[in-house]
Amino acid sequence: MQWFVDFVKILYNGLYSFMIYFNNVSKIYNKDSVALDDVTLTVTAGEFVSIVGHSGAGKSTLIKMILADDKPSNGTVFFESVDVHKLKSGDLTKLRRKIGAVFQDFKLLSNKTAYENIAFAMEAAGKSDEEIASDVPHVLDLVDLSSRTHHFPNQMSGGEQQRLAIARAIINQPELIIADEPTGNLDPINTFEVIQILKKINDLGTTVILTTHNRGVIDSVGKRVITMEKGKIIRDDKDGKYII
Ligand code: ADP
Repeated sequence: MQWFVDFVKILYNGLYSFMIYFNNVSKIYNKDSVALDDVTLTVTAGEFVSIVGHSGAGKSTLIKMILADDKPSNGTVFFESVDVHKLKSGDLTKLRRKIGAVFQDFKLLSNKTAYENIAFAMEAAGKSDEEIASDVPHVLDLVDLSSRTHHFPNQMSGGEQQRLAIARAIINQPELIIADEPTGNLDPINTFEVIQILKKINDLGTTVILTTHNRGVIDSVGKRVITMEKGKIIRDDKDGKYII
């Protein structure tokens, strides 16, 4: 009977064009460490979802499940009706091309300039030299980094490096941007700028999932907020509240 319940849930979610669907997902690393505890969650295309919670609440584990960096102990994670943990490696690469990821520590290539960091991501996705020459200046302009085109990461501030990481994440036009604590290393002004860019990207149609424990960030986004505690979703607010 469980298969029938799952089928109806998927059909129901399909009608509402879900992008991501967690169906009773748990991740148990060991009996003292339940990272996700029976999480059911839907993210619709076009949403901006902030995931908040104290350190250890399960936010990063939830992100890892979407990127298929780790397998759930129980339950299923769907990306547009595909069970991401059943994908073979070629299809997994295709899935990951639909997702741009941004992390707290930027993960830029230190021996490449801003331009080259983005060009490298385009080459990896099989883009032509003409596309690279035309798109890289455009995306650097979008994140207000035109003046840093030929700078290396260590010649740029933390905020500029994170804006470059965002530019690299969006260059291949992913459907989803995942930003895992992107402002964790930034001061309030740079934090504000990074959040404004994520909002702009969302306004242009890309779905955004952001994890943070910064109350100010949540207030400035003002969209859906999911609150996690001990691996569970304890609140899901449409209007940007951070209550823990
Ligand atoms: P958050 O991102 O909210 O800080 P995490 O998802 O990183 O939380 O961690 C949730 C829980 O799972 C924590 O108790 C953490 O110690 C545990 N955990 C995360 N990754 C592992 C791992 N690879 N092995 C064992 N326990 C882990």
